[in-house]
Amino acid sequence: MTLEGGCYCGKVRYLAEGEPMMKAQCHCRECQYITGGSPNMFIAMPVAGFRYTGEAPRQFRRSDLERPVTREFCAECGTHLTTRPPGFPAVIVKVGTLDDPAHFGAPRMAIYTVDKQDFHQIPDGLPSFERLPPR
Ligand SMILES: [Zn+2]
Ligand SMILES: [Zn+2]
Repeated sequence: MTLEGGCYCGKVRYLAEGEPMMKAQCHCRECQYITGGSPNMFIAMPVAGFRYTGEAPRQFRRSDLERPVTREFCAECGTHLTTRPPGFPAVIVKVGTLDDPAHFGAPRMAIYTVDKQDFHQIPDGLPSFERLPPR
């Protein structure tokens, strides 16, 4: 599939081609900063099929962590678009930045429920993991 999206102001644009590797909702504390407090809906797309077509985003990595993820966001409007985890060939795309978020369909699992807040909802029957599912 081909997914297109970008930031709120439109300067940063991307194209993601390939088979989705994971569709999930993440309850981790880090995601809560970015979403506004709710779980983060994301779709993991192969690195090989992902490219920016507009301006390049800014990148941020925490310097106090041993294996920090790289977070990419628009320097102009601040929209957080993607996360790149170390050692995993995927770009984690935030569903809210898709031109048509409906292409997401639905999450297939809930992850990092260890950080779940009481006001977070997990649909009945959705596989849930305290951290990541075993690989
Ligand atoms: Zn922007
Ligand atoms: Zn998360």
